[in-house]
Amino acid sequence: MANIPRQKTRQVRVGHALIGGGAPVLVQSMTNTDTADLHSTATQVAELARAGSELVRITVNTAEAAAQVPRIRERLDAMGCDVPLVGDFHFNGHKLLAEHPDCARALAKYRINPGNVGRGAKRDEQFATLIAMACRYDKPVRIGVNWGSLDQELLARLMDENARAREPVDSDTVTRQALVASALESAARAEALGLAGDRIVLSCKVSGVQDLIAVYRELARRCDYPLHLGLTEAGMGTKGIVASTAALGVLLQEGIGDTIRISLTPEPGGDRTREVMVAQELLQTMGLRSFSPMVIACPGCGRTTSTTFQELAEKIQSYLREQMLQWRERYPGVEDMHVAVMGCVVNGPGESKHANIGISLPGSGERPVAPVYVDGVKTVTLKGETIAEDFQRLVDDYVAATYAGDSAARARLAAPAKKGRGGDGEADSDNQTIPIRATH
Ligand code: SF4
Repeated sequence: MANIPRQKTRQVRVGHALIGGGAPVLVQSMTNTDTADLHSTATQVAELARAGSELVRITVNTAEAAAQVPRIRERLDAMGCDVPLVGDFHFNGHKLLAEHPDCARALAKYRINPGNVGRGAKRDEQFATLIAMACRYDKPVRIGVNWGSLDQELLARLMDENARAREPVDSDTVTRQALVASALESAARAEALGLAGDRIVLSCKVSGVQDLIAVYRELARRCDYPLHLGLTEAGMGTKGIVASTAALGVLLQEGIGDTIRISLTPEPGGDRTREVMVAQELLQTMGLRSFSPMVIACPGCGRTTSTTFQELAEKIQSYLREQMLQWRERYPGVEDMHVAVMGCVVNGPGESKHANIGISLPGSGERPVAPVYVDGVKTVTLKGETIAEDFQRLVDDYVAATYAGDSAARARLAAPAKKGRGGDGEADSDNQTIPIRATH
């Protein structure tokens, strides 16, 4: 794991999950189903949890939705899914929690947006009710400020103060200050109302990368509440992934952030679990956590003659991800394994030697053989039509031998060629007909 010093924060327990206080950065996500629809919401929560979401947030916006929350919890428990549920409340949360005690109990955390609690005199009263509910049911809250629903009274007050200041700042700076002030003032008020300081998580989501970095740096400087990171309205596809990882990567590298959500707009019919995968990959590539074995694949180039190499890389990646559901329990530590799948012998053997297990597929002009390295040593050369299947079996054997001490698997790994396996002890360069310098 990377040795990145983390900002010291309080630890907040959410069901069985821990946020902050040195706990691993937690991955969370949110459903996009109608919470009043028990079946589709429970199904999606279970899918997100299976993909690795350690908390799942659901919208609680109507009495019908609130009434279904305890049933969703029961359905998940019956499925053996114990992921804590977070209720997302806006405008009527005080009423829904007060009128639906089973909903209040079934949720593990309440998300409150100070900009959407209520207007004018009602705002303080409704905020106090939300906090009273959190105290009554012993639940933590996330005070989640959002750029798009910033408390307008607070913003107006700060704009006025800025206009009277001797050296006024620009309006974007005032807006960022208002976001931070809204989160901190709301947290202070929640504590004054009796909520313990270790029951509060903060977030200040904006849609601009530089704004997000500036806001969270300021929050981290001014408080020790655990921070939930996320770029709001990140967008679709690669744009959303790049924007989120650019912003969150900078903050995580500075030790800021205790839980993350990647808010991706799914493509029509797209898979909601993608946001969980992106969050995990971000944390894993930064060396902050390990979730599933890492596949190191070269990008391919003019030396890759066919799609065999891409297909094998894709196949191995999906296979490892699928296996992790069982492997996590059976093979502790397997999530740290590195598997190299390379397109030719230019960098293939080198990367393979650095991985736990690696294969170099034949590139253009090379003999149709694929040397395999295990723990840095060339053990076998695969040949023929079943290279992909043979390599997958070797990965299985490696996992069983290394993470469960399976001696039969270890013997198979070291075994000489059977059908399709070379094991011929060829030097790496034997696979090349034309020596070529690496262009990487
Ligand atoms: S030279 Fe070989 S290892 Fe490098 S990108 Fe091309 S195929 Fe992959």
